[in-house]
Amino acid sequence: MQFQSKLPEVGTTVFTVMSALASKAKAMNLGQGFPDFPMNSELIEMVNGAMRQGYNQYAPMEGWLPLRETIAEKIEDLYQHTVRADSEITITPGGTYAIYTALTTLLQPGDEVIVFEPAYDSYIPNIRVNGAVPVSIPLEYPSYSINWSTVRAAVNSKTKLIMLNSPHNPTGAVLRHEDIEELRKLVHGTNIFIHSDEVYEHIVFDGLPHLSMIRYPDLFERSFVSFSLGKVFHCTGWKMGYSVAPEWLMKEFRKVHQFNAFSVHTPVQVAMASFLKEKSNYISLSGFMQEKRDHFRDLMSKTRFKPLASHGSYFQIYSYSAISDAPDFDFAKELVAHHGVAAIPVSAFYQSGKDDKVLRFCFAKKKETLEAGVGKLAKV
Ligand code: PMP
Repeated sequence: MQFQSKLPEVGTTVFTVMSALASKAKAMNLGQGFPDFPMNSELIEMVNGAMRQGYNQYAPMEGWLPLRETIAEKIEDLYQHTVRADSEITITPGGTYAIYTALTTLLQPGDEVIVFEPAYDSYIPNIRVNGAVPVSIPLEYPSYSINWSTVRAAVNSKTKLIMLNSPHNPTGAVLRHEDIEELRKLVHGTNIFIHSDEVYEHIVFDGLPHLSMIRYPDLFERSFVSFSLGKVFHCTGWKMGYSVAPEWLMKEFRKVHQFNAFSVHTPVQVAMASFLKEKSNYISLSGFMQEKRDHFRDLMSKTRFKPLASHGSYFQIYSYSAISDAPDFDFAKELVAHHGVAAIPVSAFYQSGKDDKVLRFCFAKKKETLEAGVGKLAKV
């Protein structure tokens, strides 16, 4: 039989490759982005309770209403914008699904999509599977900020969408007020949409604000914004997230969603509706994670790796150019095999394989994991 792949260029992801190498070498995994500390046991009890109370059948397609109402209150409180729980929020099985559904809703074959690289690995396959064309723009090394004149030069009549991600995976960079002003000028009076990946909205450091697209009515009117409750509550394996968009866009999003997942795990939604009402359950996250980042940085200061700025997310990028001039993939493999620590080579987040000799480390780990991992890195 003949078969034409929709994603012929996609192979095994770097995370799978590095995690497999890490388990083979029994290495510390500071590569993949998930916490290794326990989540809140009260939330686990609340999910169990919801199951025992009989919340075990399909949830509504758009999500459990009390959860959407709690999210709307949280948005109003944080971003001073009223979002309608009935028509502008949809609960999804994770942030990645929210992104995929938004892109499938918007994109037509031949549309161009501006993607900043390094980029979270789902974006470009999501664009291609919809027949659209990714237009990659590198972030400025080493600040990983956006060069807006390059963006302006890339825009043309086929530009349908700009993909944003703040705080950023893999670099930890965050959008600044200047970026918002440039973006506003760029899209004003055009038909360009925005997808804003804000899964790390509650993991922002150094007193910086999270500049959500939802704060700016002129930007939000053309935006899909994707969130992940798995990131907020340290339960990435639960795959819970949501999408927020103006009613006219969300109506189309739901057309795609209802014939895909249709709805999301009911007892988790019921439990999260109550848990999310307690503001401290998410407001405390930035401080908690900043403590981890600072501890990780202190430990790393005794190694030959050099930190680049990280103002949010689970990640910190380090340059190893003082240690080796090997390509980052080779260096990461050597680190696993000979030093027992897995990290992610950042070239994997570029279509071009651009190699600035930097590795991504995930510091969303227990103190003991960080100390044991960096102990090994100190010998490199
Ligand atoms: N976007 C970014 C930038 C991420 O880092 C991740 C998680 N690795 C996601 C989206 C996906 O979130 P979820 O696990 O809820 O699908």
